[in-house]
Amino acid sequence: MKRLSASGLRLAETCPASLHLPEIWTESGDAAEAGTGRHLYLEHLQTMTRDEALALVPADAPWRSTCEGIDPEEVPRGRAEVGVALDPDDGSAHWLARGRDGTGYASVPGHWITGTIDLLVETEQWVVDWKGVERVDDPEINLQLGAYGLIAARLHGWDWVRISAAHISPDGRISWRHGVLDAWALAEVEERILAVVAAARAASREQGPYRRGVHCTRCSGLAACPTAMGLVAAMVAGGPSTIDTTGMLPADLASAYETAAVVEAAVALTKRAVEDATWALGTLPLPSGGSLQVVERSRKSVDPERGVPVLRELFGVDAVDAELEVKISNSSVEKLAKRVAPPRQGSAFVTELWTRLASDGAMRTSRSQSVSLVRARRADRAPQVVVEEE
Ligand code: SF4
Repeated sequence: MKRLSASGLRLAETCPASLHLPEIWTESGDAAEAGTGRHLYLEHLQTMTRDEALALVPADAPWRSTCEGIDPEEVPRGRAEVGVALDPDDGSAHWLARGRDGTGYASVPGHWITGTIDLLVETEQWVVDWKGVERVDDPEINLQLGAYGLIAARLHGWDWVRISAAHISPDGRISWRHGVLDAWALAEVEERILAVVAAARAASREQGPYRRGVHCTRCSGLAACPTAMGLVAAMVAGGPSTIDTTGMLPADLASAYETAAVVEAAVALTKRAVEDATWALGTLPLPSGGSLQVVERSRKSVDPERGVPVLRELFGVDAVDAELEVKISNSSVEKLAKRVAPPRQGSAFVTELWTRLASDGAMRTSRSQSVSLVRARRADRAPQVVVEEE
């Protein structure tokens, strides 16, 4: 059985058998590198000025603009990258030598649940987890945050703990989602963790069951999973020639959606493996003609400050200005507002600015609709938790 980590608890809770598959899929190199780079920058902000921390971010790093957009005033002060563990057999919590690089994990007992708390603000009994734009469970039901909260509370003897998911958008804006776990909620988190451990141990004896669903897209064992790869095999062998949903019941449609999500993830995995092979081989002829090749593409764009005067000189002011697109995005407005907002009042300042723009008739709102996955909320757990949306 793979070691259970705090970040893997949710998947293990949904499909305990996933813990017994080899770790084949990992987050794409680029995404993992950007996540690590962003965390490192946030860690440096604890002890350095913004300029000093930025000087350590490579100039050509794709995550540099994210780091540049982060307002240091919005980053709470505490201990960053704190390695911790929980022994589910006796309920004891432990500090580990070091967090994110995993050097503190190698020597701990295999049944301990390990993890790295991104930021621990001990003076405020507060655990913060930095996230990107990915969807995660709300704090009140987020088992990773719950596990960190439980471990921190046990290490410090706290009878409540504040837990927060801080989502960092590509332009550096931070959106907070907060929850508070009281003693009752902490006991409930521990109960869930123990149930996961028991189910994982049972799945080892029974070799399953595999519980397929949208969560498979985050499973590192997807490529070795008999149920997920069985779908791909059936698809490759030839499925139905048309997809007709007209007579399908809602339950069948929902099941079809989950199947499609698993197939999509498995197909993406297959394509990524083929692309990796193409990088190694240079070219890969396809049976139907043509070939996969590593192709370099470049896109031209004009630096407006230097290019517009040249174009105006050549084509006249009116002709050039008719082609000019001036766009101020939602995120640019918020970034500007936060630059001048008093410390920790960024959100209120942004709201005020949008109100002012709206009253001057300068705000445009466009609406669109799409089908999106909305994560389940466990309403039965809500009363134990206070959730503030910011
Ligand atoms: S791919 Fe899905 S069904 Fe298979 S082990 Fe992973 S989570 Fe379970």
